[in-house]
Amino acid sequence: MRVEYNRMACAAWFQCIQKWDEFDMNMGAGKADLNGAEETDDGIFEREVPEDAEQKAIDAAHSCPIDAIIVYDDDGTQVAPEP
Ligand code: SF4
Repeated sequence: MRVEYNRMACAAWFQCIQKWDEFDMNMGAGKADLNGAEETDDGIFEREVPEDAEQKAIDAAHSCPIDAIIVYDDDGTQVAPEP
């Protein structure tokens, strides 16, 4: 499982940090940070999701009111939020 996080779009609602502790509040930037993620495009961050954190990543994606967090399964199919 893989997560793609659009940090550029993040509007600092910070629901995600309550769902997955790999999201941290960055008040200075007015954005959430996704730990261990690599910037793959301008403002787009990606990382693998460990098996034991899959539900947390999905919950974080569901919690984001602007769909800045997208979770994909190993085949590249979008799992959350539901497409
Ligand atoms: S829930 Fe979405 S908008 Fe809010 S901090 Fe997390 S990524 Fe940003």
